[in-house]
Amino acid sequence: MKKARLTKQKQVILDVLRSTKSHPTADWVYEQARKELPNISLGTVYRNLNVLKDMGEILELNYGSSQSHFDGNPENHYHFVCEDCRKVYDIEMPLNEAINTQACNETGFVIKGHRLEFYGLCEECQKLD
Ligand SMILES: [Zn+2]
Ligand SMILES: [Zn+2]
Repeated sequence: MKKARLTKQKQVILDVLRSTKSHPTADWVYEQARKELPNISLGTVYRNLNVLKDMGEILELNYGSSQSHFDGNPENHYHFVCEDCRKVYDIEMPLNEAINTQACNETGFVIKGHRLEFYGLCEECQKLD
């Protein structure tokens, strides 16, 4: 991985994201970053999130419905989205490389990877039923 020098702002935003597994929205990142950099603006946070995404340091998760969520872990991994509380969880399971081959066999395309999301009810929301 390339070791680009990060500005203080980017470093703080990256630290915020790497310190949580909650896949927060930009608003939440902004609230946390302000504790470190009181003068930072929401616009600056958005801009830096985009740059960090382009640098491959973070992932942007967009499930259509609402705001994007950001992930400090840029490696491919699977997610679970709760349809009730909209929280995004990591699913700790090995990547299914077999479906890449399957998709390749089906299409003849060069398959470089896949993204996978699971949907349903998280543990907390099941209890509320
Ligand atoms: Zn839930
Ligand atoms: Zn994740």
